[in-house]
Amino acid sequence: MRRAERAGTGSESAAADARVNLLGMPRTELERFFVDLGEKPWRAKQVMKWIYHAGVSEFDAMTDISRTLRGRLTEIACIEAPELTPFPTAADGTRKWSVAVGDGSEQVEAVLIPEAGRATLCISSQVGCILDCAFCATGKQGFNGNLSRAEIVGQAWAAARQLASEGSGRGITNIVFMGMGEPLYNFDAVVDAASVFADDLGFGISRRRVTISTAGVVPRIRELASRSEVSLAVSLHAAEDELRSELVPLNRKYPIAELLAACRHWLGQLGDRRSVTIEYTLMEGVNDALADAVKLAGLLGDLRCKVNLIPFNPFPGSGFKRPSMQGVRAFQTHLLNAGIPAMLRTTRGDDITAACGQLVGLVRDRTRRKARHRARRTGMATDEQLLRVTSP
Ligand code: SAH
Repeated sequence: MRRAERAGTGSESAAADARVNLLGMPRTELERFFVDLGEKPWRAKQVMKWIYHAGVSEFDAMTDISRTLRGRLTEIACIEAPELTPFPTAADGTRKWSVAVGDGSEQVEAVLIPEAGRATLCISSQVGCILDCAFCATGKQGFNGNLSRAEIVGQAWAAARQLASEGSGRGITNIVFMGMGEPLYNFDAVVDAASVFADDLGFGISRRRVTISTAGVVPRIRELASRSEVSLAVSLHAAEDELRSELVPLNRKYPIAELLAACRHWLGQLGDRRSVTIEYTLMEGVNDALADAVKLAGLLGDLRCKVNLIPFNPFPGSGFKRPSMQGVRAFQTHLLNAGIPAMLRTTRGDDITAACGQLVGLVRDRTRRKARHRARRTGMATDEQLLRVTSP
């Protein structure tokens, strides 16, 4: 089965596999689904309210729908999210879940970061990651394919259900695609999921508070605004191509100038009130010198952006170090003095390895990563091949 069409956790029977999973289906598609059944399109509204507002997964519980239609839906459709298993909560309140996906033998991770006045859920879009950024633990795990939109939306849906069952008054206020994987290499599923997050009948989260983070897949950034109006974050990490190519190998394909041009295109399509977030992970002795801050300020001077500075989060064998707080502050101060809004992202949940770049999950099969390496060594890693590898 194509991974993008997977319905749930794999625990369902073969018969259930043939059912359409309504979780993560955008409103327009759900309306078409009902019209195709000979029903009115507003059935979609009813069902979405049950799924996302009431947290219901059984059609039988949808009491404003006729018994006949409920029976029909039970036969042909399902609402199935992946199973979430909690890790112990971090000292700072950060929570992490292991998410069983595919046939249940693979795992990704989702992280909830509570802060004053908001709670951000960081979700995964792929099993592992193909990009292999030098400083990220996920890439070291290898890559095993895309999550379905049900598996992406299901992370938020199941986490929200869990919070509600605990009587936690505050729900999820922000969603970031900053967990495992490169969201723009799972474009269709991510765009669908984002539409459900931002839909009033779905999670009802403002599109500004749903953020897709990318290492810089330029053609997809150019396409994004025509498919979704959610926010964009770009993982830059270096102001010069030579260093960026070492840290983020994708830079060899899409160098900084092309990446920033794509960001400008995105900004141009969405209008004056939006800005792009630039992520910059600070690694001691690598990209944290004042000279780097000067170059970065020069590069970003005329881009409508804000910079998120992320002190490197260590993991075993990474070979990188987190800079001193003093160094981080000096870097930030330089950007601020140059008129660039620069926020320091405080490290959250690192005692349960829930911080940026520490997510590893369980990747069953590393062969695709090897294939990609082979392609790259022989100079054949064209975008088409990368996409083929990432969309099995
Ligand atoms: N592939 C996407 C989303 C996943 S990574 C992307 O590259 O944006 C989410 C963010 O965490 C990225 O900015 C990434 O560069 C950063 N990150 C990865 N490893 C990290 C580490 N060890 N310490 C701090 N930030 C890290």
